[in-house]
Amino acid sequence: MAVTVKNAQRVRKMIVAERIKETREIIGSWRKQGLSVGFVPTMGYLHEGHRALINRARQENDRVVVSLFVNPTQFGPNEDYEKYPRDFERDREICEKAGVDLLFAPSVAEMYPSRNLAFVDIAELGEGLCGAKRPGHFRGVCTVVTKLFNIVLPDRAYFGEKDAQQLAIIRRMTEDLNFNTRIVACPTVRDADGLALSSRNAYLSEVERKAALVIPQSLQAARQAMDGGERDAARIIGMIREMIAKEPLAAIDYIEVVDGETLKPVSRVEGPVLVAVAVFVSKTRLIDNFWYKEGSTCF
Ligand code: AMP
Repeated sequence: MAVTVKNAQRVRKMIVAERIKETREIIGSWRKQGLSVGFVPTMGYLHEGHRALINRARQENDRVVVSLFVNPTQFGPNEDYEKYPRDFERDREICEKAGVDLLFAPSVAEMYPSRNLAFVDIAELGEGLCGAKRPGHFRGVCTVVTKLFNIVLPDRAYFGEKDAQQLAIIRRMTEDLNFNTRIVACPTVRDADGLALSSRNAYLSEVERKAALVIPQSLQAARQAMDGGERDAARIIGMIREMIAKEPLAAIDYIEVVDGETLKPVSRVEGPVLVAVAVFVSKTRLIDNFWYKEGSTCF
């Protein structure tokens, strides 16, 4: 039976590379053949949210590279770097089934052979929201994404709207530093009950997982109020705060309504805004958000 090109592509075996040199060589050989490269950076413990990014990359590029790297420079000293969930074998299988061509899974020593002296900073875009609560976080993110972009040289890179501030920062960094990569935003993937998928959901007990539903529910209520004409940011924030405060296992880290471009707090919703929250459910910090533009919302 004749094997069509499409079928031949589907049976292509995934390559796993731990070294930067090998990764560059493989991607370089694709480039020489004129193939386009889509890139999905991740910290692993993959779920359907990551899968959606991979699928989109699959549709839009000849080759797909996924990186799997829990980046130490984006974690604060009291954060969950050590206990961040890791399962290489499971991630490898998910990537292979999803049609990934190259899984780049470097060690910390490979990515940071000596203490970095050069970092990429993003000034005020990294100072509010999660940046205010996690000092140095976005400096770590920008630095590792820069390193990864320099290794992979992707035509397109895929990021989730769940991490809205990260997405805005990466877009701006890519523009400011002239990376030849198009940043593609992908909508937040949620469980059927509305909870945004996150590798950190693995920390939640059954009771905590139920309690966490107050996050999407409060955002949904805020969105409905905005659809109904509410434009006062303090009242929108107050409404979310009140709902979350009723859940004993939840503690608010921040609730903000910010300008969709500058990420600076607004007092009234006039142009496009981002409504974003970070909430501790017991010890697990979860984030969620929605974009709001007059006449069209995204949740
Ligand atoms: P992480 O492994 O958590 O660093 O995430 C890797 C990429 O997947 C980032 O661009 C995230 O924004 C994206 N991502 C994580 N969770 C989701 C989700 N629920 N829906 C869509 N994208 C997601």
